[in-house]
Amino acid sequence: MLTVIQALDQVVREVTTFAPEQVALNEALGLVTAEDVISREGSPPFDKSLMDGYAVLSSDIAAGKRELIVVDEVTAGRTPSCDIVSGQATRIMTGAPTPASADAVVPVEMTELVDGDSDRVRILVDSIAPEKNVIRQGTNKRVGEEIVATGRMLRAQELAALAELGGAQVSVHRKPIIAVLATGDELVAIDQAPGPGQIRNSNETMLCGQACNAGGVPVPLGIARDNRDDLRRHIEEGLNADILLLSGGVSAGKLDLVPSELEQAGVEQVFHKVRVKPGKPVWFGVLRRGGNSCLVFGLPGNPVSSMVCFELFVRTAIRRLTGQFPAIPQSLTARLTHSHSHKDDRETYFPAAVEWTVDGPTVRLMNWHGSSDLQSTVDADAMVFFPPEPKEYAVNDRVEVVLWDNKVRL
Ligand code: AMP
Ligand code: MG
Repeated sequence: MLTVIQALDQVVREVTTFAPEQVALNEALGLVTAEDVISREGSPPFDKSLMDGYAVLSSDIAAGKRELIVVDEVTAGRTPSCDIVSGQATRIMTGAPTPASADAVVPVEMTELVDGDSDRVRILVDSIAPEKNVIRQGTNKRVGEEIVATGRMLRAQELAALAELGGAQVSVHRKPIIAVLATGDELVAIDQAPGPGQIRNSNETMLCGQACNAGGVPVPLGIARDNRDDLRRHIEEGLNADILLLSGGVSAGKLDLVPSELEQAGVEQVFHKVRVKPGKPVWFGVLRRGGNSCLVFGLPGNPVSSMVCFELFVRTAIRRLTGQFPAIPQSLTARLTHSHSHKDDRETYFPAAVEWTVDGPTVRLMNWHGSSDLQSTVDADAMVFFPPEPKEYAVNDRVEVVLWDNKVRL
C-alpha cells in the first residue's frame, strides 16, 4: 500500500497546470498568478511629501535661516511651478510632488506665518534632517523589480500592489470546477429529517466548503444511491468538471460500487488505498479526454476521513492545477501540550489546535473518537502527523503539524 508521500507524488505527476489566461484585476481575487509581474514604473512615481507643511533646503534651517519666502504652493495632484533656492520654501500638502531642490518638509505644526503674511513662514525648529518627510521616487519599488511572483494566490494586498502600478489585467490560472457527489442509500439532504437508519449528507456541505477555501468552484451534485444506474448517471454528470469528488462507497462493503463504476466510465485508476489514518480506502483516478482531463477522488464516507483526504490529496491537486508551489502540504514543528500514546502502524493525521506561545508553537490534540467524529474538527485548525510506528509521546515532544488550509509556506 502507498505511503502518503508516494500517493502525493502520484497526484502531482498526474496533474497538469491550467493554461494561463488574462483576467481583469477586479475579477482576480483568489486566482493564482501565471507569471512574475515586473514593475514598469517606480513607486512612488515622483518625489513626494509625506506631510502638510513647507518644502525647504535642510541646509537653510541648519544654518539658522528660519524666515523663508513662500514662493509656491503645491496640492496633491498638482506639480510645483518653480524650484526653490536658499531662503525660499514651498507650501506643500501630503502626496504632492516636492520641488526638485527641496530635501525636507517641515510639518505645518512646526511653523507659523510671519505677521500673518502667507508669503512668509517662520520655521520653529532648529534643524530638520535631510530627507525628513519626503519619500523619493522608486523607494517602495524600483522599475524592473518584481511586484508579485508566479504561483501566488492573489489577495487584496497583491491586487492593490498591481493596481498601484497600473496593471488592469493579470495573467492567472483559473479556478477549477469541483463537482461534489455524495453516495449512499442512508443519506438525506441536510434540510430533511432522517428516518430510521438514515443520516444527513454532511459531506457535501463540508467538501464544498473545503473546495471553496482551496480556491475551487464547488458544484454540489446531490446524492447518488448505492445502485449502478443512479451512480452511473451522477458520475457522467460529474465528469464534466475539472475535479470530481465522490464521498463514500470506496471501501470493501457490499455496496461500495464507486471504484468499479468509475472504471466503467473510463476513469483510469492511479491508486486505491493509502496507508493513512483516517482515509485508508481513498481512490484516485484520471479521465483523460483530449486536452482537458477530469481528476477523480473517491473519498471515504466517514467525514473526518473525507476531510483529511481532501486536505492531503485534493488540495495538492488544486494547488498543482492552479500553479501553486510547493503543491504538497507543508508542515511546521510544534510541541505537544499533553502526552499521547500512539498505537497505529499507519501514518496518522490527528485533529489538533495550534497555540502560538512565546516559546514557539504548541499543539493540543483534540478528544478524537475516530473518523466519524466531525465534532473533533470543529475547534481544530490543524492535524498532527504521527509516523507509522507505535510510540509513547511525552509533553513537549516535537511533532509535525499540517495546518488546515495549508497556511504555512516554507
Ligand atoms: P462508506 O464509505 O460509504 O462505507 O461510508 C462510511 C461511513 O460514512 C458510513 O457510516 C456512512 O454512513 C458515512 N457517510 C457516507 N457518506 C456520508 C455523507 N455524505 N455525509 C456524512 N456521512 C457519510
Ligand atoms: Mg456507503
